[in-house]
Amino acid sequence: MILVGINGYGTIGKRVADAVSMQPDMNVAGVVKTRPTHEAKHAIKSNYGLYANNRENMQKFIEADMAVLGTLEDLIDKSDIIVDCTPGKIGAANKPLYVSKGIKAIFQGGEKPDIAEVSFNSQGNYKECIGKDYARVVSCNTTGLCRTLGAIEQAFGGIRKTRITLIRRGPDPGNSSKGPVNAIVPNPVTVPSHHGPDVNTIFPDMDIMTSAVVVPTTLMHLHTMIVELKNPATTGDIIKLFKNTPRIILVRASEGIASTAEIMEHARDIGRKRGDLNEIAVWEESINVVGNELFYIQAIHQESDVVPENIDCIRAMCGLTQNASESIAMTDKALGLTMN
Ligand code: NAD
Repeated sequence: MILVGINGYGTIGKRVADAVSMQPDMNVAGVVKTRPTHEAKHAIKSNYGLYANNRENMQKFIEADMAVLGTLEDLIDKSDIIVDCTPGKIGAANKPLYVSKGIKAIFQGGEKPDIAEVSFNSQGNYKECIGKDYARVVSCNTTGLCRTLGAIEQAFGGIRKTRITLIRRGPDPGNSSKGPVNAIVPNPVTVPSHHGPDVNTIFPDMDIMTSAVVVPTTLMHLHTMIVELKNPATTGDIIKLFKNTPRIILVRASEGIASTAEIMEHARDIGRKRGDLNEIAVWEESINVVGNELFYIQAIHQESDVVPENIDCIRAMCGLTQNASESIAMTDKALGLTMN
């Protein structure tokens, strides 16, 4: 049984902790918080040992009468691997501690790629991660791009090039201090956005250009995709491929799922914890092959699509299985993800 320490118990960290606790081959060693917030209380209720990031902050938990078991260093000593889910750039500050303690660590997409030996996507490059000490699970948007583009590349003998517009949510639903409130913001204003080069950390040879704007919504990111195929495929072939690929689901406007709001309602309807949708949702009606160009529109649940990748990344780094499909199937079964 692999013991997993989770440093940073926010949007991603609490979901990774729950997902770890549902797997048959790993357990939560504990979670790290900086302050005695409602999330810290929830960690204790969930029976995750609570640790402070340092001695000074540990005192704040004691003063708030919260059961704190020690500091990050104590948690590292109890863990086989740390999943660092702290806000972007803090993982880089934490890395020297992981190195000095000789513990494996997974970082998230808010960190620069060079923080780790390898960037990770389950279907894209599981094998490259086997036995590694430091890996970075790519961001929510990059994970979404890798899921569908990787499936197309592997099934149809390659992609000639791809051009993508990302329409990004302003903040996460729980973050009331961020906007935009009434604007569309090119973000970044430069092209390509960082997403294309980030996909190249998984698929180095893919010709991909991305541009991105941020809009006033908290409900998902949306990508409009144009993919030039190397080999012929029909619209039906692509629909069949997406139907048969793990962690991609097809949704239909004709059945009332016409927006990201309705996708989120669907996730709640099917009983997903927190209303999460770990899969990438592709609108079936948007899939269209014209000549050698494929068009489709997909939506990304930013808070949860990277969660199964973190689980697979733990398995690869800890050598629990050498086989990507086996890990994906095990993760998805434990999380209750089913195919279309
Ligand atoms: P978050 O702000 O929701 O959560 C981060 C947590 O870490 C908070 O609880 C915060 O209090 C805690 N924290 C802050 N400093 C800390 C420290 N020094 N030590 C320990 N804990 C500390 O952030 P998030 O959205 O969960 O993002 C975490 C990482 O995941 C980032 O790299 C981000 O880019 C990436 N990511 C986020 C999303 C998303 O949509 N939220 C999606 C994919 C990847």
